[in-house]
Amino acid sequence: MRTAVISDIHANLDALNVVLADIEARGAERIICLGDIIGYGPNPLECLDLVMDKCDFAMMGNHDFAVLYEPTSFNTTAEQAAFWTRKQFEQEPDPELRKQRYEFLGNLLVRKWEEGSLYVHASPRRPINEYIFPDDVISAPNKMSSIFDRIEERCFVGHTHVTGIFTNEPDFYPPADLGESYKWGSDEKVVVNPGSVGQPRDRDPRASYALMDDEQIEFVRLEYDIPAVVEKVKAIDDLSDFLGQRLLEGR
Ligand code: ZN
Repeated sequence: MRTAVISDIHANLDALNVVLADIEARGAERIICLGDIIGYGPNPLECLDLVMDKCDFAMMGNHDFAVLYEPTSFNTTAEQAAFWTRKQFEQEPDPELRKQRYEFLGNLLVRKWEEGSLYVHASPRRPINEYIFPDDVISAPNKMSSIFDRIEERCFVGHTHVTGIFTNEPDFYPPADLGESYKWGSDEKVVVNPGSVGQPRDRDPRASYALMDDEQIEFVRLEYDIPAVVEKVKAIDDLSDFLGQRLLEGR
């Protein structure tokens, strides 16, 4: 089945709209979301409503968790953004819609298995909060082997906002090293990160997502109107200007 995998939207509606239009144009049959739908960005409600409407299932990200329950290990900027985001949910005048959104947040999945594939927001060991960084293949080989021990064939993660594939050598390949796509191998375990829709951090500011079928996975980057989002962030006092500026640089 032709499946789109999106992650880390972070309330960036402009980026999400461009990604969803591309997914539709390419005829994906379903969309999976790896979490962090909200937090940081200026359009949390619109983004949540779109994910609710368009995605087959969605995972619980640390920022979704922060808005629903409480922020854990957040810096001041992130915590302030989480509380502002929660206020937007609280201020929804339609009680039915308010309830529907909270229920959707509360029902986000922590782990989802589908045949040999595992879906989480962060890592198989700590599905909401553990980062799997490209550097870990050099600096933390034990961490990587412990992560791969928990994987049958494939694991899909977001959380770092860095697009690419980890193999169990262990090694990390950004899309440029793969020719933008990767053919599934039978004897290799992989951790796939589709990158971030709404706040890429691999120095490429374009929105990132992945499109896969039985044969391969392709990484897609898309331009969108970043200055428009920077302006929206600037206009909201509780969102630090840095949250807009970083979008311009993809960091
Ligand atoms: Zn995130």
